[in-house]
Amino acid sequence: MKIAVVGCTHAGTAAVKNMAELYPEAKITVYERNDNVSFLSCGIALYVGGVVKDANGLFYSSPSELQEMGVNMKMKHEVTNIDTEGKKIAVRNLETNEEFEDTFDKLVMTTGSWPIIPNLEGIDLNNVVLCKNYQHANHIIEKAKQAKKIAVIGAGYIGAELVEAFEVYGKEVTFIDSADRILNKYLDPEFTNLMETEFENRGVKLALNQAVTKFVGREGSVEKVVTTEGEYEADLVILC
Ligand SMILES: Cc1cc2nc3c(=O)[nH]c(=O)nc-3n(C[C@H](O)[C@H](O)[C@H](O)COP(=O)(O)OP(=O)(O)OC[C@H]3O[C@@H](n4cnc5c(N)ncnc54)[C@H](O)[C@@H]3O)c2cc1C
Repeated sequence: MKIAVVGCTHAGTAAVKNMAELYPEAKITVYERNDNVSFLSCGIALYVGGVVKDANGLFYSSPSELQEMGVNMKMKHEVTNIDTEGKKIAVRNLETNEEFEDTFDKLVMTTGSWPIIPNLEGIDLNNVVLCKNYQHANHIIEKAKQAKKIAVIGAGYIGAELVEAFEVYGKEVTFIDSADRILNKYLDPEFTNLMETEFENRGVKLALNQAVTKFVGREGSVEKVVTTEGEYEADLVILC
């Protein structure tokens, strides 16, 4: 039996380890467009904040571990099309740009999610970054070294954790969301009121009830976030 696995972070790693144990006769091939597996995004804020110092602590598996279990690991390979009737996938090697097809008897789709990137003017400026994978984490850490004013857009738990990390790091932080309170999807006002007061007491500027309309920059790098209510200086912007 030939099994093709598309994507290998948490769902993919769990599926692959189980399948390799339960079906040792199966020929399992993993196609992952990134160069790592099992990255713990939940550790990004701790890594950025310096609590996790060794990046190896952000992974619990590796391509070589899975390879040793008999799995064929195709890292930096993107699946571009799936023909479920013909049981075929189209793949691009992201290093060589070579395209090829593979067949499967069983297909495991563990392609997860990607952050929403709003179509706003200035979104392509330098220092407007995402926060999802290991590359992003390293990117944020590198850029935060130079940054003085950081805007975090999106007041869910990912944003809240980063704001905390940057505040501890001594940065001037603006926390922006279109909703009227932080973490509004997770907690009631009794709790978010306390958290907002705590953030403000620590010098975090809350810019709630306002939507980002554009980013303004100079010489290709972001300088300002413009919202429906105002403008905020920022030399690093994280889209959460
Ligand atoms: C900053 C942050 C903090 C988080 N904190 C927590 C937390 O504290 N607790 C918690 O429970 N959850 C947390 N999460 C959520 C958790 O990380 C996700 O739920 C989890 O990553 C989902 O795993 P997944 O394997 O389903 O998908 P993903 O992690 O999205 O992985 C999908 C994989 O598929 C690959 N892929 C996608 N399309 C293709 C393709 N066409 N070809 C090849 N490869 C492809 C991608 O490169 C990726 O490696 C956090 C997420 C973020 C971003």
